[in-house]
Parts: sequence; structure tokens; C-alpha cells
Amino acid sequence: MIPHATQQLSGWGRTPVTECDVYRPESLQALEALVTSDEQPNIIARGLGRSYGDASVNDGGGVVLATRLNRMLSFDADAGVVTCEAGVGLDELVNAFLPKGWFLPVTPGTKFVTVGGAIANDVHGKNHHRDGVFSNFVAWLDLLLADGSVLHCSRDENADAFWATVGGAGLTGIILTAQIQLLQVESAYMKIDSRRCKDLDEVLAALSESDGRYRYSVSWVDVLASGAHLGRSFLANGDHASRDDLPGNTTNPFATRDKRKLAVPIEFPSWALNSLSIKIFNEAIYRTHPTRNNQIESYDSYFYPLDRIHNWNRVYGKRGFTQYQAVFPPDQTEGIREMLEKLSAASLGSYLSVLKRMGPQGEGMLSFPFEGYTLTLDLPFRKGAEPLFEELDRLVLNRGGRLYLAKDVTTKADVFQAMYPRLDEFRAVKAKLDPHNRFSSRQARRLGLCSNGKAAN
Ligand SMILES: Cc1cc2nc3c(=O)[nH]c(=O)nc-3n(C[C@H](O)[C@H](O)[C@H](O)COP(=O)(O)OP(=O)(O)OC[C@H]3O[C@@H](n4cnc5c(N)ncnc54)[C@H](O)[C@@H]3O)c2cc1C
Repeated sequence: MIPHATQQLSGWGRTPVTECDVYRPESLQALEALVTSDEQPNIIARGLGRSYGDASVNDGGGVVLATRLNRMLSFDADAGVVTCEAGVGLDELVNAFLPKGWFLPVTPGTKFVTVGGAIANDVHGKNHHRDGVFSNFVAWLDLLLADGSVLHCSRDENADAFWATVGGAGLTGIILTAQIQLLQVESAYMKIDSRRCKDLDEVLAALSESDGRYRYSVSWVDVLASGAHLGRSFLANGDHASRDDLPGNTTNPFATRDKRKLAVPIEFPSWALNSLSIKIFNEAIYRTHPTRNNQIESYDSYFYPLDRIHNWNRVYGKRGFTQYQAVFPPDQTEGIREMLEKLSAASLGSYLSVLKRMGPQGEGMLSFPFEGYTLTLDLPFRKGAEPLFEELDRLVLNRGGRLYLAKDVTTKADVFQAMYPRLDEFRAVKAKLDPHNRFSSRQARRLGLCSNGKAAN
């Protein structure tokens, strides 16, 4: 028997919790032996478990922690090209290469994500309107297939496997290694212009007007604001600060002060999360962020404000939460208004809600973003939450929108399948690479992503 531990496992949203056999291979040989053994009916790779739902859990099967495969293999310091194993964290890339003047070309809102996880969900960041998805910067990847062979994939070689794997939720195989183009920067700081927007129309107009002028943009929406204030937001546009933007006495533009880390030591009881506490929190965010230009902020506080608080996912209590993320076409912003109205009317509250304009769609078959606007909300699981999620799913679908695999945990298979027109193409590539569905997850079965297309529980 290959050594493993049977564990209760969940995604970042802490629900559902399922019993999985967890493996942590220390070498490529051990990983190959696991993939080709018949010890488990199926397996799924897992990085740092930052997807919110059930993408990297596998009840009744194996979960393969890829975090031991975390060697940096090479770095071209002139071109900013890094080759590394897929278990390397984005935080490790930042720590190693930012001091040399290279930053991540695309980063999600946490740096505690592996390269494998970033590729498997084809993640996007605050610069999607300008730079697109993570895969735009992946030159090639090596994929361990179900038969134990390794497939080298790029835009030119095994391109169908490449485009099925980026955004493919770990279902084509295990990403072993990737080559990534980093972004050259002059400092570890950001130059931010921020402003308050009084309602949804104002923030939508501000996003489309300002996005051409900034590499990064994001707006924090007060979900509890209603009526004339519906969509009230705080918009932060930014660029990497040049050396000249920094104070004259700066000796090292790449040194930032390490802010003290905070922690949520206990699970919050459910009464702590009520509309009053959420209202106070959202009001405070809005009030403490005035309109201001040319603020210099460290990359860490602009990109990763939540990373300072360990286990912040405990604030939603034992029942857990989900992050609901939908993207709407540019002419369907009424969908965003309808969503905000439903949420403002429901007693479910969201501490964090983000609105962003997205750029053109990437080429990954199941890659999430397309041109339009994306609204993201943390929503606690409570009694009555599921019917609301179903209602929201229908709303998104009817408005021509779609939901994100990295976040999803409740969507029904028919709804998801209607949102992803290239799903059959994905399934055909999966059937070719993995004819017996060796790679599967709870999410894949729930949504019918495997090659037989059947959804199962
Ligand atoms: C605070 C926070 C903010 C976030 N902000 C954003 C954001 O702004 N934009 C965005 O796009 N996402 C965002 N996310 C989601 C996160 O970026 C993705 O879920 C990412 O995929 C997590 O990577 P991970 O290493 O934790 O992978 P896991 O969550 O462990 O797994 C995610 C998927 O990747 C697959 N996978 C992992 N490793 C491999 C591998 N080696 N080979 C094949 N498949 C693999 C898994 O099977 C699974 O399907 C955020 C998450 C959090 C918690």
C-alpha cells in the first residue's frame, strides 16, 4: 500500500468537508507509481487548497498533494523566464524574484496558490482587462498522464492538451513543471489612485473610463447599500511604481516593511455574522477610503490584503461559505444590478464583494473570464442559502454570464454546462488523454466534467 492518510478535507470555503485518502509523494517516481497504481479508483491533484469549493477534494478517492514537487529549476535573469515545478507557491516566486526586479505577470488575490493551481484554474488578477489570464504567460508545461507518461504541451506542441489543461481543474493529468514569463518592475511598490463611487452606474462608468490608463483596477462594493446607493463602491486603480515615484531617500526600492501578521484564532459563532456587523464593516471600508491620488503602497497590501490574516476563512463559522463569482457580458450589467438587489434584500450578507472589468477571453477550453464585468462575493452558508444560490445561477445564465470553477460548490450540472460552450471539446481531449477518468474530483462528478459527461454525486 502506498503511504497515505485518511483526512477530512475541504476547499478554502470549508464546505463540503469530505473524507479523502491524501498522498504526498516526495518524488516524481513516487508520483508516477501512485498515478499508475490501482489503489484508488481515481485521484485529483491539490495545491494549497485555495480554491473555495470542491475542485481539489475527492470523496471516496485519492487526493495528491503536489506541494512537495516544489523545486525552482532555472531562471533567465535577463529575460525574466522561470522554469519550476508545479508545487512552487506564487509567494515563493515573489520572494525569489521580486528582489531581482521581476514580479508575477498575473496574480490572484492571494499569493498562497501553487503554480499548478494557478494553471489548472487559469487564474486572473486585477490586470485582466489588460493582460488576460495566467496561461498567457505560460510558455509550456509538462503533464503526467494516467498511463504514467509525461506529455510536453505548449501552443505549438500538443496544443489541445495545453488548452484543456489550462483552466481544466486538474482533470487532464498532473502538471509537473511549467515555464513562466515574469513581469519586469522597478520596485516592490504600487502607485494607486483611488476614488469613491456613489452607485453602480458611477463605478461601471469609472471602470470602463479608467481601465485604459492603468494596468490594475479593482472596486470594493458595499453589498448592503440599497436604493439610490446600490453598488456604492471604492475603486482603486494602480500601476507598479517606478523608482522615480518613490521618496528620494529610498535606498532599496525592493525592500518593503514586513507588516505584522494577524490571525483568526477561533471559529466565529454564527451570531457574530449578522447584517449589522457586515454593515459596519462595509461602511468602515467605504468611509476610510477617501478619493486620493498617487498613494504609494507595497505590492503586498495592494494585491494581498487578506494574506495578512491567517485563517480568515474562519470568520464565516462552522458552516463555511462560498465565494460566488460571475462574469457578465458588457451589455448585461443589469444582471449585476439584479444580483446586488437580491443580495441586499436577502438576509445573507457578504463582507467582501469585488467588481472588476474583464478583458477578452483566453483560449483555455474551460477558462472562466470573458469580456465584461465580474462580480465576486463571499456568501456564508446558512439556512435558505441554497435556493438563493440557485436563483442567482439562473440569473447569471439568463444574462449570458458564467460561474468560476475555482469558486463554485453548489451549481447544478445542466446550468454549468450551458455556461461553457467548449465543454464537449474539453471532454473529447480528456477522453483521449485519460480514457478511464483516472483524474476526477467531487466537483468534476457533480458538474459532469468527465469524458462520459455524466454528473453524479
Ligand atoms: C483569498 C483568495 C483570493 C483569490 N483571488 C483570486 C483571484 O483574484 N483570481 C482568481 O482567478 N482566483 C482567485 N482565487 C482562487 C485561487 O487562485 C484558485 O483557486 C487557485 O487555483 C488555487 O490554487 P491552489 O494551489 O490552492 O490549488 P487547489 O485549490 O488545491 O486546487 C485548485 C485546482 O487546481 C488543480 N491543481 C492543483 N495543482 C495541480 C497540479 N499540479 N496539476 C494539475 N492540477 C492541479 C486541482 O486539482 C484543482 O482543480 C482566490 C482564492 C483565495 C483564497
